[in-house]
Amino acid sequence: MVKENSILLALRQIIEVVSQKSSFEDAIALLVEKIRATMKTDCCSLYLLNNRKTRLALAATDGLSKESVGKVSLQIGEGLVGLVGERQELVNLADAPSHPNFKYLPDVGEDEFLSILGVPVINQGELLGVLVVQCKEKRLFDEQEETFLITLSAQIASIISVNRSTKESLENNVKRFKGKNGSGSIAIAQAVVWKPPVNFDTIQIMYSEDKDIQSELFHQTLFQLQTEMDMANLRLQESSHEMASSGYMSGYGCMLDDTSFEDEVDNEIFTQGLVAASAIKIIAEKRIALAKEAGDKDKARDIRDFAAILITRLVHLLPKETDISTPVVLVVKSMPAALVAEMPRNKIAGFVCIDSATSSHTAILARDLGIPAVIDVNLDIDNVDGHTIIVDGQSAEVLVDPSTSVVDEYMQLISQSRQLHDLFEKEKFEKGITLDGKRINIQLNAGLNHEVDDLSAQTDGIGLYRTEISFMLSNSLPNEEQQVLWYKSLLAQFKGLPVCMRTLDVGGDKGLPYLPIEEQNPALGWRGIRVCIDQPNILKTQLRAMLKAQLEYGNLEIMLPMISRLEEVLIVKRILNEAISEIEDETKQTVKRPPFGIMIEIPCVAYILDELAAECDFFSIGSNDLIQYLFAVDRTNPKVSKYFDTFNPAAIRCLKFFKDKTESLNKPISVCGEIAGSSLGSLLLLSLGYTNLSMNYSQIARVKYISRHINLNDLLAIGKKALTLNSSVKIKHLYTEYAQAQGLMSVIDQKK
Ligand code: PEP
Ligand code: MG
Repeated sequence: MVKENSILLALRQIIEVVSQKSSFEDAIALLVEKIRATMKTDCCSLYLLNNRKTRLALAATDGLSKESVGKVSLQIGEGLVGLVGERQELVNLADAPSHPNFKYLPDVGEDEFLSILGVPVINQGELLGVLVVQCKEKRLFDEQEETFLITLSAQIASIISVNRSTKESLENNVKRFKGKNGSGSIAIAQAVVWKPPVNFDTIQIMYSEDKDIQSELFHQTLFQLQTEMDMANLRLQESSHEMASSGYMSGYGCMLDDTSFEDEVDNEIFTQGLVAASAIKIIAEKRIALAKEAGDKDKARDIRDFAAILITRLVHLLPKETDISTPVVLVVKSMPAALVAEMPRNKIAGFVCIDSATSSHTAILARDLGIPAVIDVNLDIDNVDGHTIIVDGQSAEVLVDPSTSVVDEYMQLISQSRQLHDLFEKEKFEKGITLDGKRINIQLNAGLNHEVDDLSAQTDGIGLYRTEISFMLSNSLPNEEQQVLWYKSLLAQFKGLPVCMRTLDVGGDKGLPYLPIEEQNPALGWRGIRVCIDQPNILKTQLRAMLKAQLEYGNLEIMLPMISRLEEVLIVKRILNEAISEIEDETKQTVKRPPFGIMIEIPCVAYILDELAAECDFFSIGSNDLIQYLFAVDRTNPKVSKYFDTFNPAAIRCLKFFKDKTESLNKPISVCGEIAGSSLGSLLLLSLGYTNLSMNYSQIARVKYISRHINLNDLLAIGKKALTLNSSVKIKHLYTEYAQAQGLMSVIDQKK
């Protein structure tokens, strides 16, 4: 190593020569060369963090194989380099291969090196990369060497940072937008902007001289719509949605086939000089009035809807749905929940929603569909139609007009995720059994209908059915018959397996269009069970529908959301008892009393668990709300998302408390919040003793795979250790380290 008095000189010289290089690649190649020579080590390498901030890629080396530059990378937390990145702390080891984090990378030529000194490269608190020196001999680097490398890394941080931002803005010309909510994996496709139908009432009456053009426009649009509706009708029939197709066509078909409608609109255009949209409005209004006079409200609504669609076509000149031949990224400002649920999955590669007001329920639906989606993102909707877009559902980012190198990087990730998909596919019908033979129940969080074959065979039943999603997709409060149909179809699909239905959980971030709840502080307001108790008719109808639906199947479980007081449970039980007697009277059948449970979402229940346990059969942790209320952190507010930390010591001790306490009360407990479906989160839960996990469909295969490749006893020991640690970084590291030891790093989704 250089003599102490010449450290500064050496540093200055290195920075000076490096800064003179015009290309960044040449500069870092020279940098590692100079460092190696100055420090008299056998190797020096620089790893840089990728755009997605998930991996450290070898960017320059003097000592390792030069062919590996740009090809080799490590996840944050993976190997010793990943460890430096994760902890953002120096690592100095005389015998690197004996460290548990050591990772042997074939073809890199690292085999001969024993000692390592690695430091993080950080600029304004942000990790940019890791700088490493290695020696063949077994030796610890001294303090002076540590100081030298740390000082140097601080100096090069600004060079790297400048290069990074110039690269992003100039070379790539990529526009990156951060969203609030992300789900699914990655999609790259052309953007198609969807605009909502125009508001029929606000169409203005306007005139035009070009009567022929207006008439031509009207007839063309009508013809186009007619063809599309015929095709849509066919599609619906093919997918055996006959009921829907007949309803769809009966309303609009009569208008499309009605030639007098065409004549009347033409007449308005030619005699009054109206533009086509205004003429349609005038004629539609006349017909609506006639239908109303005749007391035919349905017809009046159909005419109005039809006219609105026709005018929308004229005004927006929307891309026709049938034009979408290759999958696209659908970009919308906002979209009614019903339309999100009906999106043709094979044509939609990704989904981007701008509006924040619709963020939560749209996000839930998008996640359930498994389409890569980013919700609540500040994107200029008027400037993206037809542009290439990357939707990164894992990091909740949207990239517009990415350069080929960025596309390449994402393509690599897509291919990795396909490989994973194939890996999971092999075990999807297996049970969740750990390597040491312990059974882990993997259940589904349901809300939408999944057109997946053998869905029930892939799961151990439904751990959470969010009934509010079907309510959100309805135009009005669904009646008992309607609900019986919904619940029956789910109970039938999962015959022989438990189906845990949660009573209506609206309010907070989940609104119903026909039951608006405007509040200053909705998370702490009228939500969940509170709404049902204040509107007992809604609750009674729902309970009756659930009970009726299960008569044939007997696999229903009922669960209550947002419980904070014993009285709430007692009230619901009274209503449930009434519903059971009513149905027994009506059907003359004995109604099986379904297992009855409550969700642990509000921390105060910790203090009344004994009383609650006396009234219920099981508990389920809603970690999304539990963490929100435990840390006073709004789960939908990105400004405070860093405080929504499930690995925080307080969070894991809280989870441990509920596990131990319910066990002592002899009541089963499961977890159905997002944490159960996340990679590291599932490891954490298993380590704390939870063996019932419920998650969205898109997460089932991964978590099942993880559960089948871990040793529960080892994890329980790790859980014990985690409970003694004082920071989430240290706690998280325990699980990353375990995943690595089990060869699970490629399966672990770092962002979740
Ligand atoms: C939860 O809070 O964890 C939960 C599962 O309920 P939701 O996300 O529907 O509020
Ligand atoms: Mg909840």
